[in-house]
Amino acid sequence: MTALAGKVAVVTGSTSGIGLGIARGLAVAGASLVINGLGERKLIEGIVGELRDAGAPDVFHHPADMTRPEEIVSMIEGTVTRHRRLDVLVNNAGIQHVSPVEQFPPERWDAVIAINLSAPFHAIRAALPQMRRARWGRIINIASAHGLVASRDKSAYVAAKHGVVGLTKAVAIETGGSGITCNSICPAWVLTPLVQKQIDVRAAALGGDEAAAIKQMMQSQPSGEFITPEQIAGLVLFLCSAAAAQITGAALTIDGGWTAQ
Ligand code: NAD
Repeated sequence: MTALAGKVAVVTGSTSGIGLGIARGLAVAGASLVINGLGERKLIEGIVGELRDAGAPDVFHHPADMTRPEEIVSMIEGTVTRHRRLDVLVNNAGIQHVSPVEQFPPERWDAVIAINLSAPFHAIRAALPQMRRARWGRIINIASAHGLVASRDKSAYVAAKHGVVGLTKAVAIETGGSGITCNSICPAWVLTPLVQKQIDVRAAALGGDEAAAIKQMMQSQPSGEFITPEQIAGLVLFLCSAAAAQITGAALTIDGGWTAQ
């Protein structure tokens, strides 16, 4: 279980949901961690302690705001300064905004594109020199089923996630043969705070019936069950393993059959 002992991973947006699940998986595998994301100091201190207890030799929270390129670069460069290495970069931070395109507030469009698409670009750009020096690296971008297909009222998110899948392919081509791989993971519904907000909106429209809201959401997901952060962490760990050394440029679905339709 300590397959990543001696390695250093950065996971953006890891104070909640999928990113926290990935950080836990990497900690159990023995990686040192730079976590990132919003939250009260007490919550973040609790997460840092929990990840250390889970097996991460060193855990540091970097408060970089993913809308600010200079802070993203500082997080990556600070990691290399602290550890003299950066082996795994998981670009996970993301936000959603749901609205028909005619009513979509331009500032929400800008925020969704900045956090979900531009932040991975800035982090990858800053991390690659160190990975090239080490001749090993794993870049894992948390895209979405919406990186492959669309849903209504999610124009910015769908555009950003399709962009992430494209960025992944471009980076995979440029890093071919260097020991670095770059892949996207494309989940469908995972029960996190990001999705709970969407459940709440739908449930309100259905007279407060949360079960009916979830049933409605699962019409697109043949498995009818939420994917878990632990399952996504399992895929991240596989992508870090030797067995996955020739998987690069892929968009790996973990979507209960969403995109099979
Ligand atoms: P979440 O809301 O639980 O967590 C998002 C994380 O991003 C948090 O740690 C938050 O603090 C951080 N974050 C938000 N804005 C930030 C900013 N400006 N700077 C730094 N950090 C910031 O969401 P989640 O559901 O765990 O989503 C994680 C990723 O998975 C996102 O990229 C999302 O698009 C993707 N995804 C989620 C689902 C799902 O069903 N939950 C499905 C497919 C893809």
